[in-house]
Amino acid sequence: MIEKKKSMKGVIRISIVAAILMILPGSSLQRIDYRKGMNNNVCKSLKDNVLVYYIFVDSQETTPWTEFDIKSTIDSLTLAIRWLENQARTYGVSLNIIQDYYIGADYTTIKKPLPMGNVVNSLNIPGFAKGVKELNSWADGIAKRAGITFNISEKDGIPEIKNPRNKERLVAYLRDEKQVESVALLFMVNNYFKNDISVALNNMGNEDVEFAILSYKYPSVIAHNILHLFGAADLYKSEFRRNERKIAMAGQFFPKDIMQDNDFMNIKNFEIGEYTRYLVGWSPELDSRYASLLLDKIVYF
Ligand SMILES: [Zn+2]
Repeated sequence: MIEKKKSMKGVIRISIVAAILMILPGSSLQRIDYRKGMNNNVCKSLKDNVLVYYIFVDSQETTPWTEFDIKSTIDSLTLAIRWLENQARTYGVSLNIIQDYYIGADYTTIKKPLPMGNVVNSLNIPGFAKGVKELNSWADGIAKRAGITFNISEKDGIPEIKNPRNKERLVAYLRDEKQVESVALLFMVNNYFKNDISVALNNMGNEDVEFAILSYKYPSVIAHNILHLFGAADLYKSEFRRNERKIAMAGQFFPKDIMQDNDFMNIKNFEIGEYTRYLVGWSPELDSRYASLLLDKIVYF
């Protein structure tokens, strides 16, 4: 993770770059092959009808969500989603993103403390593999709390299905309810004026449902993480993109790609480049010039 200082509206903020990590379950030595994230888990190709479902969560150390924060975050999500649809249109891809979210009466959220206070510590303090496991349990607990509130239709006085009890059942319910193949599940935590990361989890495997935790409401960060769930890979230095030669290459080929480091930057300055288009299913083949970017160093999880 990289730290940097930026001035915004006169306020100096220090932020850990949303070094969005792509995490595989279990603990092992693995060569990074970004193709593992393609067309798998609950976010297959970023095409046709897709649901983005998000849940507002209050943790002990994050800033409590206010009605204003929630509304402005929904605006940012809408902006990110419209941007993704416009990009798809530019490349002749059919994409219709439906959005829905969980919110209680009077803008109440789900309260569930992150395992280690914030996202970055929850992931790194227990060690990567354990951190991922604990964040998966955290997300399952939230899915259950949201699921309890759903009105499940009854037939002859018997519910046709049970209320969702974890992420997997929540996604299954939403797929059925909205008639979509892919569901991007986002947990929104309020880290305004705080240092934390956004992270996409389980997106390169199939052992548990993929989801993202978003710390900030910048449309560029939101779009970047939705793309991760659909298979896109970082183009800048992150936990998994570590080969310096390839990072330099990615910078030369795709300087304006949304999968570059984009904290605080206006989404209008970005695009979805050829390499990212291949990974999210927008083009069937990848030019051989970019093939080496599909692999990275061996990482110990
Ligand atoms: Zn990323």
